[in-house]
Parts: sequence; C-alpha cells; structure tokens
Amino acid sequence: MAPTYTMAGGKGPNSYSQHSTYQRALLEVAKEKISEAISTKLEINSASNRFNIADFGCSTGPNTFLAVQNIIDAVGQKYRKETQKNPDDNIEFQVLFNDHSNNDFNTLFQTLPPTKEYFVAGVPGSFFGRVLPRDSLHVGHCSYSLHWLSQVPKGIADRNSPAWNKDIHCTGFSDEVAEAYLDQFKIDMGSFLKGRGEELVSGGLLFLLGSCVPDGVKMSETMKGMLLDHLGNCLNDVAKEGLINQEELDSFNFPIYPAHVAEFKSVIEDNGCFTIEAFEKISHANEEFPLDPEFLATSNKVTFGGVIESRFGKEAMERTNELYEKKCPEILPELANAKSGMQFFIMLRRN
Ligand code: SAH
Repeated sequence: MAPTYTMAGGKGPNSYSQHSTYQRALLEVAKEKISEAISTKLEINSASNRFNIADFGCSTGPNTFLAVQNIIDAVGQKYRKETQKNPDDNIEFQVLFNDHSNNDFNTLFQTLPPTKEYFVAGVPGSFFGRVLPRDSLHVGHCSYSLHWLSQVPKGIADRNSPAWNKDIHCTGFSDEVAEAYLDQFKIDMGSFLKGRGEELVSGGLLFLLGSCVPDGVKMSETMKGMLLDHLGNCLNDVAKEGLINQEELDSFNFPIYPAHVAEFKSVIEDNGCFTIEAFEKISHANEEFPLDPEFLATSNKVTFGGVIESRFGKEAMERTNELYEKKCPEILPELANAKSGMQFFIMLRRN
C-alpha cells in the first residue's frame, strides 16, 4: 500500500503548492551552483538529441517546475556555447516527475507552466530502488525529500523494544532510538543511490538539496528538531483532552530522519557509484523558518497534517494544529537560539 505521508494536495490555502516558499528559496539560491556545475562537470553528448531530467519527490509543484527549468536553462546554455547551435532546435528535453503514487499528480499536471519547452511524464512510485530504465537519465534532482524514510524503523513503535521511542522525536532520543533511525536511513538512502546509480548515464549528475544536520549538532538543538518536539507536545495535549488515544500516541512516530553530514557521506561512499563533487552548506533567504506562529502552523499542517489525520482522524489533526499555533509563542525564544546551518547542496557525478 502506498504510504499516506505525502504533502497536502490541491491548490487551496492549506496546500503544499501554496505553501512551499521556504523550500523554494533554496532552489533559487542553488540555481547558480547548478548552472556552474552543469557548465563544468556535465559532458553533453552532441550525437544524441534526447536529454532526460528527473525530479525525485516532486510533490505537486510549483517548486519542481523551477528546479527543472534551472537545469534546462543551464544545459541549453552549455550546448549553445559548445556547439554554436540553438538548443531549442536540437535538443528534446524530457522531464520525469517522480513521487509516491498518492501524490496529487493532477494538480502537478494542471499547473505545468504553459510556456514549458519540454515533454513530461509522471513516474509514480517510491524512489527507493529503480523507477526509470537503466542508463536513461542525464540529470537527477531531489529536494527536501530524503529525510523521509520508507517507514518508521522497527522497534521504534514497539513498547517492548529497547528502541521504543515514546516521544515523537528528538529530545530523549536514546542511543537505541538513534541507532534504529540511522540503520533505516542507511537502508533507504542505500536503495535511493542504487536506483539512481542504475538510471544515470556515466558522467550524469545528481543534485540533492535539503536538510542535513551538521556534525556535532543534535537534532534537538535545531529549529526543525524543536518544532517536532513542539508537535509531539501538542499531540500529547490532544491525547489528554481525549481526542487521541494515549497508548496509540505512545507508539506513533514520524518516518523522518535528517542525517548528519558524516552519515550521509558514508552511505554515498559505501554505494561507490558516485564521486562527490560538492557537499556544502548553503544559505538562503529563509535560512530558518520565520518566527511566525501562523506560518509555522500552516507549514506543519501541509507537511505533517496528512500523517496525523490518517492515524488519528481529521478532528484530532485540526485540534493539534490549533494548539500548535496557539502555544507557539511559548517556544519562540528557544527557536530564536536554535543552531542554524541545516541547508545543504550536494552534487554527485555518476562514475
Ligand atoms: N521537491 C519538492 C517537494 C518536497 S516535499 C520541493 O522541494 O518543494 C517531499 C516530497 O517527497 C513529498 O512530495 C513526498 O511525497 C516525496 N517523497 C517522500 N518519500 C518518497 C519516496 N520514497 N518516493 C517518492 N517520493 C517521496
């Protein structure tokens, strides 16, 4: 069964498509880096006029459109420079949009930029493992998706396991809990890289953008970690009010794990198919979330609302979010002191 933790679909005020400017800011600053990387690191085979780009974890848009356009512009520029020919007449770009099959692909396709100059196809299914034909991909892209694991690690939700995590996340992470999450990350990221390694042509590029935890920093010291803990506290309050069964809540966790830099690098090295061309912190205009309770609550709802609703029902989800916003001012001073620097730009080249 396809999991239910996709982003909120549709185009309304509480949809991912209307509420993803935070993620978009990273794509905007990465444009230049992507363009430079394509110009210096990608070899364009001028004998073939096909160029395939895939965005893994594309969601409903519009960020994915910006991501692929940045890549197309950069490839076009390079082609023009190297061949003196017009890329519009000579290259056919095909863009493959990948996400879980229960992602709102309708919204994605209905809102495709009308001026787009590329062919499109949807590739529904988990990106853990191969989703495209072998040696068919020239550039892959994935932003803000790799902290989602394929499942809550075994043991985490089991009261009888040493890795049982009664709290939602972060604070109180015992060594066993941390190890269980890391093991799951290694499995999932390993499958992601194995899949991309088979799909990408030799010399093809893979851009991975999003959240990593700097080495030496604990998740609970970051803003994202603090917000997860806040969400956990609100869920506990709703359980006390009776809308959520406490026992069920005690075995509830999110399948997410933003890896530490060294952990991420070691999975890439273990896979062995890629050269790490860049792995760097990147700052963007919305570096950390704005300290605005309404913004934070909406952001929480479009990201985690679906998971909470599918587990505890709509009323409990709405109440949790109401409390999330109401109690947010209490944690603003703590958030203001969070350790920053969780945005990363990673570029891999297929050997
Ligand atoms: N790339 C977009 C969307 C990020 S939201 C942006 O930067 O704005 C994260 C997306 O990853 C969600 O749409 C979620 O459904 C998708 N995702 C998470 N795990 C996935 C998996 N295993 N396979 C495919 N998509 C996945």
